[in-house]
Amino acid sequence: MSELITLKDKQFKPYILEIEILDAVKKMADVINFELKNDLPLFLVVLNGAFMFAADLLRSITIPCEVSFIKVASYDGVGSTGTVDELIGLNENIKGRTVVLVEDIVDTGLTINRISDILYFKEVKQVKVATALLKPDAYKKELKIDYVAHKIKNEFVVGYGLDYLGLGRNLKEIYILA
Ligand code: 5GP
Repeated sequence: MSELITLKDKQFKPYILEIEILDAVKKMADVINFELKNDLPLFLVVLNGAFMFAADLLRSITIPCEVSFIKVASYDGVGSTGTVDELIGLNENIKGRTVVLVEDIVDTGLTINRISDILYFKEVKQVKVATALLKPDAYKKELKIDYVAHKIKNEFVVGYGLDYLGLGRNLKEIYILA
């Protein structure tokens, strides 16, 4: 695995290896295949960050399912303190469905909670959350995070879909601020 990398003004060091990510994602898929086998789930991938995780996860999902992609829009920018006002790209009729939200990272949980509220408002049967990364020390919400590949410390990470100022999404390992 490569050593320190520089993205714009910051240096990052390796944190989670590709093999560790893929192992955990495969295990997550096995659990979902078992738990949701009778639900015909709709996987809703939250762009941009979840694209790489979604591709790995869904390759190992073997039960009947649908896959769609959404973006969150916010009037003051979506970040850890932002609010989510609208879901872009949600064209399916989701009433009565089991929806699996596929996220890159859950930090404070604001984003995922707001999306979940919007989905319940549209009368889904249930929302499950699948995330590549969770920061347990930052997460402050009640909503259950059903499937987590890796729990990480409360620091900024990049790679595996996650960016720093637009860079680093293509990295296949996860890096942490050096
Ligand atoms: P939350 O609403 O859970 O606080 O934050 C969720 C969003 O904040 C994520 O989807 C991601 O876009 C961003 N975010 C939170 N923590 C990190 C991090 O460590 N690295 C990067 N690149 N983005 C993060």
